[in-house]
Amino acid sequence: MNQYRDALQTIGKAVALAENSYQRKPNEVKILAVSKRHSIEAIQALYDCGQKAFGENYTQELVMKAEQLSKLGIEWHFIGPIQSNKTRLIAATADWVHTIDRLKIAERLSQQRPQEREDLSVCIQVNISREASKSGVMPESLRMLAEQIIRLPRLKLRGLMVIPAATSSFELQRSAFAETRKHFDYLNQTLPLSTPMDTLSMGMSGDMDAAIAEGATMVRIGTALFGQRPI
Ligand SMILES: *Cc1c(COP(=O)(O)O)cnc(C)c1O
Repeated sequence: MNQYRDALQTIGKAVALAENSYQRKPNEVKILAVSKRHSIEAIQALYDCGQKAFGENYTQELVMKAEQLSKLGIEWHFIGPIQSNKTRLIAATADWVHTIDRLKIAERLSQQRPQEREDLSVCIQVNISREASKSGVMPESLRMLAEQIIRLPRLKLRGLMVIPAATSSFELQRSAFAETRKHFDYLNQTLPLSTPMDTLSMGMSGDMDAAIAEGATMVRIGTALFGQRPI
């Protein structure tokens, strides 16, 4: 229990320090607790310390945890790769989806979002480091996908999400996030949006500072909050 309070406080301080160092507004950066492979008890403990937004990568795990914790009022974010046969469960369960990278998935989520739920908040995942192994739309196809998504009912385009190529170089981390931010600003200036996008989902335990320096509004933190993931 104390372990979670301490971890949350440590990350909160690190975020506040980075906001201050890089001329960001206080509390502009939200922490998403990435709970994949961690237990219901661990989520409950972190929730009791005040953390309300949690991210999951696997559909079955999201559905099971959301069901078991349905009394709490957690905001659930889906942040894993999406297979088209899983969209119905995701549309019924998640409040946010960060990993839309093709039209087919967006169309299915749009069609399958239950009537009684609010519009689904979505981010487009961009393959900013152009890695063959990674999900995400290639940067040159981003604008077309965004144009298509904003026409779909029941989805609200909130922003962009990236997982850049892993590197320990702060400067290289920063440049991938800076490039993401350029795409974000360009889309916000040129798309016919009724409400501007407000979310840059970027930065994890290992590259959070660089992401905050370049405009992240949501950092996705697993290990630094929960410890190592069980295998
Ligand atoms: C697992 C995961 C994270 C959290 O990574 P940590 O290094 O444990 O902080 C963030 N984003 C995505 C998409 C993930 O899959």
